[in-house]
Formats: sequence, structure tokens, C-alpha cells
Amino acid sequence: MPDKTLQTLYVEKEMCKGCGICVAFCPKNVLEIKNNKVAIKNLDACIQCGQCELRCPDYAIYLGGK
Ligand code: SF4
Ligand code: SF4
Repeated sequence: MPDKTLQTLYVEKEMCKGCGICVAFCPKNVLEIKNNKVAIKNLDACIQCGQCELRCPDYAIYLGGK
């Protein structure tokens, strides 16, 4: 089994303006907008495709880790 925790999804809430672009582009419905900020709804479903990071205009969400 591949280690799903190899990369973690990080959110910088102060930088997020709640535009919802990442939510729209996420193919796995991992993200949602809550109180005008992005929130992680279902991290288990994340396939680490990087679309959210790529599409966010404000560098507020990214994959990182080991
Ligand atoms: S890395 Fe891909 S699957 Fe994971 S939250 Fe971002 S867009 Fe969704
Ligand atoms: S694309 Fe970036 S700024 Fe827009 S909701 Fe997602 S994390 Fe926030």
C-alpha cells in the first residue's frame, strides 16, 4: 500500500479569499467553502493531484511534506 500521508494538504486560511476555485477543480470533492474560507471536508479522498495548489490564485493551499 502506498503511504497516503507522504504529502499533506496545507491551507493558509489568512491567505484564502474563499473564491471556491480549488473546490471547483478538485476532482475528488475534498474541499468546501466554510465561513468564506476553504476547508478540508474529506482528506481521505485526496489523490494528491495538485490541482488545488495549481489553480489557487492566492497560494493559500498546497501539498507539502516529506
Ligand atoms: S490535491 Fe487534488 S484531490 Fe487533493 S484536494 Fe487538491 S485538487 Fe483535490
Ligand atoms: S482557490 Fe485559493 S483562495 Fe480560492 S478558495 Fe481555494 S484556497 Fe481559497
